[in-house]
Amino acid sequence: MPWDEEEKQPKGEKGEYCEICGAKGKWLNLQKCPMCHKYFCDSCQYLYGGKIFCSDFCAQEFFWGADEEDE
Ligand SMILES: [Zn+2]
Ligand SMILES: [Zn+2]
Repeated sequence: MPWDEEEKQPKGEKGEYCEICGAKGKWLNLQKCPMCHKYFCDSCQYLYGGKIFCSDFCAQEFFWGADEEDE
């Protein structure tokens, strides 16, 4: 999978906006997904196993292991 440096963020600095829904603002309480390391806002968060993820997908991957699936 291409994991090159993608520093060109058109929406702003990484961590200043939700990478899931695109919401932006200093008032946002952004969290970082422990699985995919994306930032996400409160409305996108997914609670699972006492941790907060950006999606149920990441939650499942985090706890149940990642099968490397090539699209
Ligand atoms: Zn969001
Ligand atoms: Zn994630």
